[in-house]
Amino acid sequence: MERALAPALLRRDRREGPHKLQQRARDESGAARNAAEPGMTQLDLKADDHREVYDDGPLYASAAKIFPQKVKGTFRRLKWRLLLVCLGVYYFLPFVRWDRGPTEPHQAVLVDLAHSRFYFFFIELWPQEVYYFTGLLILASLALFLSNALFGRVWCGYFCPQTVWTDLFYTVERWVEGDRRDRIKLDAAPWTADKIRKRVTKHILWLLIAWWTGGAFVLYFADAPTLVRELFTFQSSIAAYVWIGILTFTTYYLAGHMREQVCLYMCPWPRIQAALTDTEALNVTYRLDRGEPRMSLKEAVHKRSAGQPAGDCVDCNQCVNVCPTGVDIRKGAQLGCIQCGLCIDACDAVMTKINRPTRLISYDNDDNIARRLRGEAPVYRLVRSRTVLYVGVMAIVGGIMLYQLTHRTQMGLSVLHVRAPMYTTVKDGVRNGYTLRFANKWSEPRKFALEIGGVKDAVAKSEEADIGADGRLIVTVDPDATEEIQLYVTAPRASLTGSGEAITMKATDLGDGETAVVSDHFFGP
Ligand code: SF4
Ligand code: SF4
Repeated sequence: MERALAPALLRRDRREGPHKLQQRARDESGAARNAAEPGMTQLDLKADDHREVYDDGPLYASAAKIFPQKVKGTFRRLKWRLLLVCLGVYYFLPFVRWDRGPTEPHQAVLVDLAHSRFYFFFIELWPQEVYYFTGLLILASLALFLSNALFGRVWCGYFCPQTVWTDLFYTVERWVEGDRRDRIKLDAAPWTADKIRKRVTKHILWLLIAWWTGGAFVLYFADAPTLVRELFTFQSSIAAYVWIGILTFTTYYLAGHMREQVCLYMCPWPRIQAALTDTEALNVTYRLDRGEPRMSLKEAVHKRSAGQPAGDCVDCNQCVNVCPTGVDIRKGAQLGCIQCGLCIDACDAVMTKINRPTRLISYDNDDNIARRLRGEAPVYRLVRSRTVLYVGVMAIVGGIMLYQLTHRTQMGLSVLHVRAPMYTTVKDGVRNGYTLRFANKWSEPRKFALEIGGVKDAVAKSEEADIGADGRLIVTVDPDATEEIQLYVTAPRASLTGSGEAITMKATDLGDGETAVVSDHFFGP
């Protein structure tokens, strides 16, 4: 069949891209069927022709209900495993403990809003280190671009929370109401006691999952075991209950009711992804070079025995029936396809049953379809300029972040000049005021000695600091805390060379000698 179909399509392929080619092949296969089965002519053409979306008609169409069928296979198994990992991490991570000493929280991952800290295992980030989050976001974006360049919307199909929770909700629905046929029947059936019982059970289970999802979210913001106790004894803050309520509703509504509508209409990623992808990315692709002209199995057997071309696709619609977004992948790449691979499993099962080679639908690309039609071998290039660039930028950003993390200081010092007034004249010279903030990122108290530099004969005083044996100001800072002091620096008029001089303040840890330096200006008349 492939050899018979190839020459005609190949000539066109040189003038037109594979998508055009695919459309033509579908039209031709549709036309072939029309000729063979007059009774089905109009119906088949309509079902096959995606140009129908451009027809005049109402601008609003209500969403068609989708009843995805259960499927077994490689990609379904992979999705189960990833689903368990994603949900397991999300639900149980707040309960993982991490010893940071007696004064620090013991939760491995914690967003401590009250103390403006973020804890991630051995990493503790302060508000002034927010640039690490910027770096993380850049890394996450690049990872998404890279996965897109390699395997298309693999994020959407396997990792996106909308996909994961929708999949979980579909599993519950299937468990309560049955597989596709049963659910279609139930949906169309009048409201009997059995239908009410099934629907109520399903929605209660959905709400329970949604509630636990919202509950797990707030556990990232407080000590999880304590918060769980407080939530059940109604001793928790009202904010915790409100957030659980909001997230219960959004999870229930988005995963239970909106489902594929989120991917089709709300999520920006499919649009961005379409602009970022290239022709070599491996996307879930219907191999029209093998599948067309599609026809019934009986007809295909008959045609093959007569030496006529017959595609492997038996038009059983199984690939469409299992699709969670209701896409017919045989119409080519579409925005609705989240690349979950379930249609591959469905089609593989059909191919195995009819004794034809599997992977009529597979992770592939249009370039390879065109190559096969030209009689060439497919080419899979994971290493290409685009992927190398993404990996290179990720390595640079990751390297910088790692260097920063491993060399980050455990203390901080910042200065703010008192501006009203900028300076005052006193009997022994000119005085400037500063607000100094010391940060101690350790879990033990620390003492810092302060030295002033840059202004000749300047003397520093502060009521909040002690004076050391060597005359330096000593500031004590509690564990994992900051300490603010008012500093007054006085210098003789004669030592000022202009109306503003650079001044430095250097803090030195009396224990380990770690230092931090800040600079500002010393103003005079
Ligand atoms: S067409 Fe296939 S890969 Fe795409 S969403 Fe549907 S089942 Fe998943
Ligand atoms: S499951 Fe395979 S054989 Fe059946 S309609 Fe889809 S592509 Fe064709």
